Amino acid sequence: LAKDGGKHGTAVYEPSLHSAALERLQLRADLERAVVQGELVLHFQPTITLADEGAVPTVHGFEALVRWQHPERGLVPPVHFVPLAEESGLIVPIGTWVLQEACRAAVTLQLPGRAPVAMSVNVAVAQLTDPGFVQLVADALADSGLAPQQLVLEITETSLLAGAEVVAPLLAQLRAMGIRIAIDDFGTGYSSLSYLRDLPVDVLKVDKSFVDHVVGDEQGASLAEAIIAMGQSLHLTTVAEGVEGPEQAAWLTAAGATYGQGYLWSKPVPLVQAVALLTAPVREAAVQV
Ligand code: C2E
Ligand code: MG
Ligand code: MG
Ligand code: MG
Repeated sequence: LAKDGGKHGTAVYEPSLHSAALERLQLRADLERAVVQGELVLHFQPTITLADEGAVPTVHGFEALVRWQHPERGLVPPVHFVPLAEESGLIVPIGTWVLQEACRAAVTLQLPGRAPVAMSVNVAVAQLTDPGFVQLVADALADSGLAPQQLVLEITETSLLAGAEVVAPLLAQLRAMGIRIAIDDFGTGYSSLSYLRDLPVDVLKVDKSFVDHVVGDEQGASLAEAIIAMGQSLHLTTVAEGVEGPEQAAWLTAAGATYGQGYLWSKPVPLVQAVALLTAPVREAAVQV
């Protein structure tokens, strides 16, 4: 292309123009269209009960995880667009859609005669601090008919560095409505633990980087054990993220983690498969990756 660039007048191949910056501009424009045209989809990954050692593991709830069904690129994972959406502010309309869709899905997942299914939704700090967020959540619950006790909002530990003074009153309002608050990627935020005293929180999601080292790594196991013990003594629910092996699950159960989430049981799946996970025993229903 560069060689015959002259033939096409100004269309000279310029590697620098095709750099990451241009790619990002294109992606941003595409993403704006994606929201409007309904190209975003949710997948759901189950959280599994661990607390009762020896008991049959069951699905406690699901985490809603956004994907982008791109017309040319296929199914794009959030790592390729959520950070960009956060920088550009597009995370606010995206997050609104995710919240509404996840609430509707939770109602679909509420099968007759079954204990209430929890639905976890990831919330970026820009969404949380956007004026009207609390009302938006109230509307999403009212429109879908989902009970607030079934909704869990996940905030990453890193995003709390933005300031507990701003975030704490918002979380308190949401909690007063009956919604639960989870700290996502717990242990990776390099923040002072004092925020656990200042913020109204219900759930700690122990980051995969700890779960990865619970088997065959004495230091790693000690760290995970300390986090779970701290969660217990603060009367918080603990969810171990990224559980891939049965040995990890056994270790986490013995350590007293409340729930597990990971490829061992299921990767995130479309809604129809999530419904199937609820109706079959957990081990048999496990989706192979
Ligand atoms: P997260 O909230 O910590 O979600 C857990 C991620 O770990 C998911 O990646 C999930 O697929 C992956 N995972 C679960 N179990 C395993 C396992 O056993 N092994 C491995 N290797 N990975 C596992 P996913 O879906 O790609 O999402 C990545 C991140 O993108 C999420 O991390 C979250 O921070 C963000 N994200 C996803 N959906 C949304 C959303 O709707 N809004 C916002 N603000 N962020 C979102
Ligand atoms: Mg999460
Ligand atoms: Mg996480
Ligand atoms: Mg994460």
